[in-house]
Amino acid sequence: MSLDHRLSPELDELRRTVAEFARDVVAPKIGDFYERHEFPYEIVREMGRMGLFGLPFPEEYGGMGGDYLALGIVLEELARVDSSVAITLEAGVSLGAMPIHLFGTPEQKAEWLPRLCSGELLGAFGLTEPDGGSDAGATRTTARLDEATNEWVINGSKCFITNSGTDITGLVTVTAVTGRKPDGGPLISSIIVPSGTPGFTVAAPYSKVGWNASDTRELSFADVRVPAANLLGSEGRGYAQFLRILDEGRIAIAALATGLAQGCVDESVKYAKERHAFGRPIGANQAIQFKIADMEMRAHTARLAWRDAASRLVAGEPFKKEAALAKLHSSTIAVDNARDATQIHGGYGFMNEYPVARMWRDSKILEIGEGTSEVQRMLIARELGLTG
Ligand SMILES: Cc1cc2nc3c(=O)[nH]c(=O)nc-3n(C[C@H](O)[C@H](O)[C@H](O)COP(=O)(O)OP(=O)(O)OC[C@H]3O[C@@H](n4cnc5c(N)ncnc54)[C@H](O)[C@@H]3O)c2cc1C
Repeated sequence: MSLDHRLSPELDELRRTVAEFARDVVAPKIGDFYERHEFPYEIVREMGRMGLFGLPFPEEYGGMGGDYLALGIVLEELARVDSSVAITLEAGVSLGAMPIHLFGTPEQKAEWLPRLCSGELLGAFGLTEPDGGSDAGATRTTARLDEATNEWVINGSKCFITNSGTDITGLVTVTAVTGRKPDGGPLISSIIVPSGTPGFTVAAPYSKVGWNASDTRELSFADVRVPAANLLGSEGRGYAQFLRILDEGRIAIAALATGLAQGCVDESVKYAKERHAFGRPIGANQAIQFKIADMEMRAHTARLAWRDAASRLVAGEPFKKEAALAKLHSSTIAVDNARDATQIHGGYGFMNEYPVARMWRDSKILEIGEGTSEVQRMLIARELGLTG
């Protein structure tokens, strides 16, 4: 029996390679993309060349044969520098390709996974609708099977969908009501909709508070026809599928949040040594030192939490509660660290040219996306046997 939270030499090598990429390639360029609200195609292409979009997928599809631990390590290192590129990877892998890998037919995998793993195409997952996200079982989008043509006919809309409207988006998997159960409840199914299908409209990008170099859109479906074979898994499994996808995705978001929290420490330590006030570095003041020590403590405990959840997932053990705990904790402390890092930077912390300003703007969504903090608390309480 052993308990070792340190990384294997292979994972540490991956961590160092991505940290170098984030420092040398992402950091110098991303601020300008962010200011222009522009998707960073050249950086995403490079991430594809590095194999990052294929990280947890089998080699037969062009993946790297890694797992969620490897994905988390990469997301943490990217988000330590920038969250827009990290969420583009997270959504591409966890929401775009993973549903096809976990639930797709051999034909669907052969058609989509090689290009998703190489980063040539991005995938998206459309669950949230204008009328509700947390209560995702209340899906209003419908899909009716036209038996004459053997096609699904999809009608409805989705909102806030990441990676859904880039030039390289290949597909969006959407949840839709395809019928009724004997008790009258909705039969929810997941269906793959390729980009460019007639009747499938992608709105202009939202104007967002943060994640400004990532792609988020509203989607609408007006009599959109796709082959019956685009059903993901079997009919009526959509609800169970997205619960699984979100459980796993929470670990990825927790790793991303940990990276943002650690990036706040990195920037604050640097600034506290450089910036002088009252004749000495501001970092010579215990008030600043204590603030940074608390930030480091928060990032460290968040890291332990997401790695614990990821280890359980990789070992095939139950991980629902641990994933929710990690997501809740890491997103809370990411917001705390971003607020403190901005404070340490004084007026410069409010200027977009400083990475901490970007981190501050990027932190809030972590308490909302892939299940709000309230939803995480509901899940944890339910796992503790509290219901009603
Ligand atoms: C930038 C961005 C990217 C996103 N990407 C995607 C994506 O790729 N795919 C996708 O499907 N979705 C995506 N989302 C949607 C996101 O997952 C939802 O916004 C989130 O799940 C919350 O849903 P909602 O916005 O409808 O809020 P609501 O569900 O309306 O919740 C509003 C508030 O009420 C609280 N609340 C709701 N029910 C309860 C309850 N029972 N008890 C206590 N409090 C409650 C919530 O916690 C929240 O504070 C994205 C969102 C953003 C902003």
